[in-house]
Amino acid sequence: MTSMTNQGKLIIVSGPSGAGKTTIIARTLDAFNSIVCAKSATTRKQRHNETSDNYYFLSNEEFNQKIENNDFLEWCIVHNNRYGTLKSEVIDQQNKGQHVLLEIDVQGTKKIQKTFPDCIKIFIAPPSIEILKQRLLERNTDSIESIEGRIEEAKRELASIDEYDYIIENINLDDSTNQLNHYLMEKLK
Ligand code: 5GP
Repeated sequence: MTSMTNQGKLIIVSGPSGAGKTTIIARTLDAFNSIVCAKSATTRKQRHNETSDNYYFLSNEEFNQKIENNDFLEWCIVHNNRYGTLKSEVIDQQNKGQHVLLEIDVQGTKKIQKTFPDCIKIFIAPPSIEILKQRLLERNTDSIESIEGRIEEAKRELASIDEYDYIIENINLDDSTNQLNHYLMEKLK
């Protein structure tokens, strides 16, 4: 007899870089065995504090090959680099009943929701643009030009905030993590 496993849900978390998204997500993943995070592919250069756990860091040629092979659920250009969600990171896990979390931008979210209309969409926002800039400067992982670009991108992302199901204003990491965990606990029941 074959056993039927419930299909896992798709959870999207977006928000400007520097809003605290990655830290909050890491804490939430620790709290939920039922959620796995899909590792994206990118042509962006690896930062000094990153490992191959963060992304599949690909050359332009490798990324092109994956586009040609139809390996992506979606891909987009963000901050002049390409980023994409690999089908292999999502479909198998969902079929096993695992919920899959995607940390992707607003453009990617628009594409994904066409294929997965019942995905859960969460946006993590900074308290203000000024605070975001301060956090990016303190993080010290990007050049000034890159930070300026990320601020402009953040303004564009914030303009799409209404398309999300749940918005967390990240003033304090503990409170934001609790909010996300409670929300997911309800949605994944
Ligand atoms: P970062 O370079 O700071 O790691 O990420 C820059 C932006 O790219 C973030 O907004 C992040 O959510 C987005 N991003 C990361 N992976 C993907 C992906 O696979 N697809 C899309 N569309 N955006 C992604």
